[in-house]
Amino acid sequence: MSGWLCIAGLGPGSEALVTPEVRDVLAEATDVLGYIPYVARVAPRSGLTLHPSDNRQELDRARAALALAAAGGRVVVVSSGDPGVFAMACAVFEVMEGRPDWQALDVRVLPGITAMLAAAARAGAPLGHDFCTLNLSDNLKPWALIEKRLRAALGADMAIACYNPRSASRPHGFEHTLQVLRETCEPDRLLVFARAVTTPNEHLVCVPLAEARADMADMRTLVIVGSSTTRRVGRFVYTPRSVVGECA
Ligand code: SAH
Repeated sequence: MSGWLCIAGLGPGSEALVTPEVRDVLAEATDVLGYIPYVARVAPRSGLTLHPSDNRQELDRARAALALAAAGGRVVVVSSGDPGVFAMACAVFEVMEGRPDWQALDVRVLPGITAMLAAAARAGAPLGHDFCTLNLSDNLKPWALIEKRLRAALGADMAIACYNPRSASRPHGFEHTLQVLRETCEPDRLLVFARAVTTPNEHLVCVPLAEARADMADMRTLVIVGSSTTRRVGRFVYTPRSVVGECA
């Protein structure tokens, strides 16, 4: 019997936001691998082996998943949100690059609802015009590159969805981010702090830059920095779809 590997996104937290496609492959799987809290979202059953592992072991996990599929397993690697957004899909392809014998395996990437889309929907429509996404973690790249990209995005006046803003092991990066924002943006620039969106611990707050503090973010928070046109309407936040006038 030939095995397969699906790299699947479980969405931002709510079971209602797991796609039917992902549900179906989980029902057929013999093995599920992933970071401990994501594997904990998969119900145990007979015939299914769960392989939870630590956060920093992504390449080892990808290698183990490909090896299980090559041996005939029906394997699912789970990520939160979408597996291609700062998650496991890239790790699998990185391992595959060094293993030509694994490149012909039946491998599929199944999309999920990424955190920024769930957070934006809760807030209103802050990503309704041009925007970009930054991963603020300096685990896999130097802070200088993060700052360069942040300044470029601010220079282009795009809304920015910031993943991994702050963690216990990286308490200072987001403080630097706020300093760069204070240097370059007006004090009433809107920021949305969306924590644990679609889970029972969901907490959303929208503040002007002047009131933003680093401790409003943690590793379960997605921060949306509005563009210069992002504004409030009632209890919502949105970015108009049109920009009138010349580019400065
Ligand atoms: N693949 C995931 C992102 C993994 S990086 C996705 O597509 O969503 C982990 C970061 O995602 C967290 O630090 C946080 O910034 C964001 N995140 C994930 N789930 C979230 C949620 N439910 N609410 C807010 N932010 C979330």
